[in-house]
Amino acid sequence: MMTLPEAITAVRAGRKLGKVRCPASRNHKHGDRSPSLKVFIGTDGWVAFKCWSADCTRDEVLAAAGLKVRDLGPDRPFQTRQAQVPRNRPTAAPAALPARSTPPDLEKAAQRALWPRLMVPEVHVVKLLADRRGIQFEGLELAVTRGILRVCYHDDSTTMETLPSWVVTDDSRCSAQARPFTRSTWHGPDGPKALSLPGSVGKWPIGAAAIKPEHHSILFCEGGPDLLAAHAFIWAEGREHDAAAVAMLGASSPIANEALELFRGRRVRFVVHADTAGAKGLARWGPQLRGIAASRDSICFKGLHRADGEYVKDLNDALLVDADTFENARILWGLVP
Ligand SMILES: [Zn+2]
Repeated sequence: MMTLPEAITAVRAGRKLGKVRCPASRNHKHGDRSPSLKVFIGTDGWVAFKCWSADCTRDEVLAAAGLKVRDLGPDRPFQTRQAQVPRNRPTAAPAALPARSTPPDLEKAAQRALWPRLMVPEVHVVKLLADRRGIQFEGLELAVTRGILRVCYHDDSTTMETLPSWVVTDDSRCSAQARPFTRSTWHGPDGPKALSLPGSVGKWPIGAAAIKPEHHSILFCEGGPDLLAAHAFIWAEGREHDAAAVAMLGASSPIANEALELFRGRRVRFVVHADTAGAKGLARWGPQLRGIAASRDSICFKGLHRADGEYVKDLNDALLVDADTFENARILWGLVP
C-alpha cells in the first residue's frame, strides 16, 4: 500500500491511482481498513483528497500525515525543481554549438550542415506530443529546456512531402532522429518510424552534450521515445537537479569513444528494450563504461503490464502502466539512480 507522500508523487507524475489508506484514522471507526482516500489533481493543479468513508477534511488528512498545504502545490515542493523553462521561449533553436567531442568525420559533418532548421517547439506542440505518446508534458518540457526535443520540417525523399516532425538531438548536433507528426512512418506505410538525419553519428549517445557536472545520475536508454520518457521519469521523481538521460539510437553501435569521458564518476542505469537487441546493446555498452562510471546497473521490465494489457517492453510503455501495477512495481518508483 502506498503512503500518502508516495501517492502524491504518483499523481503528480500523471498516474491515476486507486484509493490509499486515509491517515486521519481517528475519524474512522476502526482506522481506515479498506482504503478510502482518493488522491488526485484538482482542476486548479493542486493535489486534492476525497475521503470516501469518513469525509475527512484536507487539513485533517494533512495534519495526520505530517504534511503542509504547500506540499500539495503545483510547484511540487516534495522535490527541488531547479530546471525552469524560460517564459520567453525563443522561436528558433540557438545556432549549433561547435561539437566538442564529435568524431572528426568531415563527410558526415558536411551532410549535417544541410539539416533542416531544428526549432524549439511551441507549447501547444509539446502538449500534442505529450497526448500522443502518453508522456507527461513537464517531462517533455524538460527535454526541450535541455536542447533534446526539437521540431523541424523534414523532406520525405520518397513521397516528396515536407512533414512536420519532432526530433531528438542535443547541442553537439552530431546526431538527430526525426519522427513525423502527421503520420506514423516515413517513405509510405511500410517505411521506418524514425529517420536519422543524414550524417548522424550512430555511436553518439543523444543527450550526452546536455550532461552537466551536477548530473550525477544518468538514465541510459535506447531510442527517441524512451529518451523522452526518461525525462518524464526525471521530472516525476524531482531529479532535474542531478540527473540526465541519454539514448543510443540503435543497439548495434558501441558508444563513441569521444563520449565515454562524459560518464566519468556518474551513476549510470541502463534501461534497454526487453528484446534481444536491447540485451546485446547492454552487453556492448556496459563494459565500455567499466572503470569510468561510478556505478552501473540495469533495469528489467519483465512481467510488467501496461494498462491495456500489453507487456511493458520499454520505458515509454512504463509510463502507461495502470495504478495497481505501478503500486506493485517498486522498480518504477525510483527509476533514476
Ligand atoms: Zn478519512
